[in-house]
Amino acid sequence: MQKQSTIDLEAEKKEILKRYRALLQACKRTLEKGDKLLIRKAFDIALEAHKDMRRKSGEPYIYHPIAVAHICAEEIGLGTTSVVCALLHDVVEDTDLTLDDIRGLFGEKEAKIIDGLTKISGVFDQSSSLQAENFRKMLLTLSEDVRVILIKLADRLHNMRTLESMKRDKQLKIASETLYLYAPLAHRLGLNAIKTELEDLGLKYTEPDVYDDIQVRLKEGESERKKFITRFMVPIKEILEEIGLKAKIIGRPKSIYSINNKIKTKGVPFEEIYDLFAIRIIIDSPPDKEKSDCWRVYSIVTDFYHPSPERLRDWISTPKANGYESLHTTVMGPDGKWVEVQIRTTRMDELAEKGYAAHWKYKDSANENQLDEWIRKIREILENPQENALEFLDDFKLNLFAEEIFAFTPKGEMKTLPINATALDFAFDIHTQVGEKCIGAKVNHKLVPLSYKLKSGDQVEVLTSNKQTPKEDWLNYVVTARAKSKIKNALKEERRRISEDGREMLERKFNHLKIDFTVQNINQLANYFKLPSSQELFYRVAVGNINLKHLKDFRQEQGTIVHKTGSIKKTEAAPSLEQMVANTRGKADMLVIGENLNKIDYKLSPCCTPIPGDDVFGFITINEGIKIHRVNCPNAVQLLSNYAYRVVKAKWTSQELISFLAGIKITGIDEVGLVSNITKIISNELNVNMRSISFDTNDGTFEGSVTVFVHDTTHLTELMKKLKKVHGVLTVTRMDSN
Ligand code: MN
Repeated sequence: MQKQSTIDLEAEKKEILKRYRALLQACKRTLEKGDKLLIRKAFDIALEAHKDMRRKSGEPYIYHPIAVAHICAEEIGLGTTSVVCALLHDVVEDTDLTLDDIRGLFGEKEAKIIDGLTKISGVFDQSSSLQAENFRKMLLTLSEDVRVILIKLADRLHNMRTLESMKRDKQLKIASETLYLYAPLAHRLGLNAIKTELEDLGLKYTEPDVYDDIQVRLKEGESERKKFITRFMVPIKEILEEIGLKAKIIGRPKSIYSINNKIKTKGVPFEEIYDLFAIRIIIDSPPDKEKSDCWRVYSIVTDFYHPSPERLRDWISTPKANGYESLHTTVMGPDGKWVEVQIRTTRMDELAEKGYAAHWKYKDSANENQLDEWIRKIREILENPQENALEFLDDFKLNLFAEEIFAFTPKGEMKTLPINATALDFAFDIHTQVGEKCIGAKVNHKLVPLSYKLKSGDQVEVLTSNKQTPKEDWLNYVVTARAKSKIKNALKEERRRISEDGREMLERKFNHLKIDFTVQNINQLANYFKLPSSQELFYRVAVGNINLKHLKDFRQEQGTIVHKTGSIKKTEAAPSLEQMVANTRGKADMLVIGENLNKIDYKLSPCCTPIPGDDVFGFITINEGIKIHRVNCPNAVQLLSNYAYRVVKAKWTSQELISFLAGIKITGIDEVGLVSNITKIISNELNVNMRSISFDTNDGTFEGSVTVFVHDTTHLTELMKKLKKVHGVLTVTRMDSN
């Protein structure tokens, strides 16, 4: 079915040209001689190549590459090459044009970038397995040309902005992946504005109710906030004008995503989040005066409002590793409300919003090397690929999110490390060999163990010994991906060496007992000891973990072992996970929960305890059948983005007969009879069965948790509403797990 039977092609043509002209306008800043022609050429080629294609929304496909190019130019600040590549980014993948064509029409540089983009989308956009491995590939291309990643981010941003027209399951997958990979990546590249928008859009599609709720509440408080900011700024503006400092002052609301994060992680209700917005003072200041001018503004602000001493952050003297520079303080504003104030220059502000791309405008910036430094580190990690790509990704993400500390070598060289980094991390950051031989360190001239957690400003002298080798428990002491992967490699190497010894020992023993030292016999022995591989067997032999006296028993039982081999072969032929997925899918494209209770093996996941009415999906586990998770489960984003191929659509039947467990958290003021009032409502009025209840009181407040059996979300909401009305109760919230 076509939405419109006739499409006004003339009007569309006009619209395409309009959008193209807007793109050129956005490029103006960086245009040099001949650039306009290049962009026009790319546009004409893309227009022709995509001419018969339409997006899911029904719009001409060319809107998409134009929009991506526009984002590159305007929101990331990229130049002509990137704009050309963005216009052509889907051409090789989706149309008849080849890379050779691009190379011939433009050049080697353009062909390389588009090749990178095509590879990424080839591995990303299909619902292929293990996204983490693909992410690794994507980052590898980053070391070749960072523009590939920046254009890919622009591509993703536009796809997120136009996600409305996709099907729900696609929306969920794309939004989850965005939250899991792209937003952290944007953050690491210092693209703050894009990161924030990706996060907000990600939330909008993964948890629409939560998103809408916060959005409405923010809107409600808007005019009051504006008044507050004006009142706050009046005296400060006056002084700034007096001393002739040009300043722009804005109230920056926190992103919906970060507000939701706070509600979730800190458990505070919306009304109690005091830093819903920050006040940002952006000053025009010449490069040599930036720092002193910012501190001048700080001094003016704190003349009027008292600062909180613990909440001063100076990212001007030591910028964050992603390049962020700013001065933050939290002060007591009018009405006795704490307000965060961010002070920065125009250059710093542009940098914070647009990231490294903005750097290229300010050539003499000292931070230019930091992107190179970061890319160098990633390269190193990537060149040592872990067997388990997911593990790699988690280590890597840890580093993406981490806040940083700064520590110094004895010579005063500064090292940036994630928070909680230890002396051992520091040693590995200096050099792999320094890490491997590390026996301890002197921090500020005092002897400390390897596991010592560093603080900003620590001066670290690493102590080494030639006798030292990496140990298994070192993995518990380090937080950087670099140190982790180096230690794992060293341990693997060590294990391999020991296994070699064990192999020789075992061979001697076999000869002694007149058993042939064949692969089959070795495997049988490994099976006999229930070990996963012959290498593991050799290793255990070498470290004395296996009593070789058992070998005699093994020889005697060999008859039965042979028999066992038969059955083992059978289990080897058991269906692979992919087959399992296919099998389950074949049976039920949409898993209907509540029906088929016995036919399909599924469980309600304990991490989010879904109940009927919740938006849910099924996840195929290896040993426990299908597990049902809520779409807003804390684990959902990771599951959906990493294992999309194991996800089954699921919905509830209307089953009044079955009851499900749900947890409710209640807080309030401790009053006489409160607990009995609460339990009365639960058991009498609504006929709900309670499974457990616990209450804690502390200084006149109480916090309680109740687990109850309910039929569905309507039932649960009704119950929560009633509980809220009990005198003394302040908040009633659903708990994720019971
Ligand atoms: Mn695209």
